[in-house]
Amino acid sequence: MRDDAIGYFEPEGGFVRPERCIDVQLRLAEQHGATLYKGETVTHISSDEQGVTVTTDQRTVRANKLVVTAGNWAGGLLGAPFDRLLSVYRRKLFWFETEPDAGLVGHSPTFIFTHGPDDDFYGFPALPGEGSLKVATAQYHSASTPETLDRTVSAEEEREMYEQQVHGRIAGLTDRVVKSAVCAYTVTPDRHFIIDEHPRLQHTLVVSACSGHGFKHSAALGEAFAQWCLRGESELDLSLFSVGRFEWGDSAFG
Ligand SMILES: Cc1cc2nc3c(=O)[nH]c(=O)nc-3n(C[C@H](O)[C@H](O)[C@H](O)COP(=O)(O)OP(=O)(O)OC[C@H]3O[C@@H](n4cnc5c(N)ncnc54)[C@H](O)[C@@H]3O)c2cc1C
Repeated sequence: MRDDAIGYFEPEGGFVRPERCIDVQLRLAEQHGATLYKGETVTHISSDEQGVTVTTDQRTVRANKLVVTAGNWAGGLLGAPFDRLLSVYRRKLFWFETEPDAGLVGHSPTFIFTHGPDDDFYGFPALPGEGSLKVATAQYHSASTPETLDRTVSAEEEREMYEQQVHGRIAGLTDRVVKSAVCAYTVTPDRHFIIDEHPRLQHTLVVSACSGHGFKHSAALGEAFAQWCLRGESELDLSLFSVGRFEWGDSAFG
């Protein structure tokens, strides 16, 4: 780290293990009476005055209310205007090997490292027993789709990540990538969520594009959506996230 670097420390900052969080959320939902259908693909949604009909590749479900949280796939599933408002961006994630005596476990934070006007990367603490540290960059210039997304990380991309971001900035990492992965962020034109009723499908709430940022809010938002399902409105004011804030929103509904 350079001597003139400036840092901001957030003592409340941290990270979550998303797989464990989702496991717990699903278990709690079942305990409260939810029926979970896993490994099914929704192929069609229709609605009428009385409710919603959801067709999957295995069954048809009739419901009073529907909340759609389809992540990267939301645009394709929901049609206009969401297919135009939601963009999917490829992101690469790298786990660089930690040097055996680097002492990073227990002493490395979750961080965002900015080192140029448009150049930054972020990372997570080195965890016990993993021998690696996860880092990643963001990009919002080259959009993709869930169907065409390149889900492999090339050796050249690994080298680039080390040379352009990691090298000289994080002590205790080697240039060896232990593991890499691709994920996708789904974003709206202003990068804030869309949480609103579908303009054509009745009784249907659309929740997107939440990405990892949205995951952090999922507990509070889930409560608000349950209220919407039961009472038709939530205690939280979600108007900031209306689809109508986009100027092409109304004209796209036609
Ligand atoms: C390996 C990896 C690392 C990541 N690291 C980070 C990170 O460091 N920081 C960060 O902010 N984000 C990260 N992300 C991204 C983050 O996990 C996602 O952006 C986030 O999970 C999106 O949440 P979501 O609820 O909007 O969508 P998802 O979690 O994708 O949930 C959408 C769900 O809808 C289901 N679905 C979609 N279409 C249909 C259909 N037609 N029928 C039935 N089901 C359907 C999907 O199967 C999926 O379960 C990472 C992702 C991966 C895979």
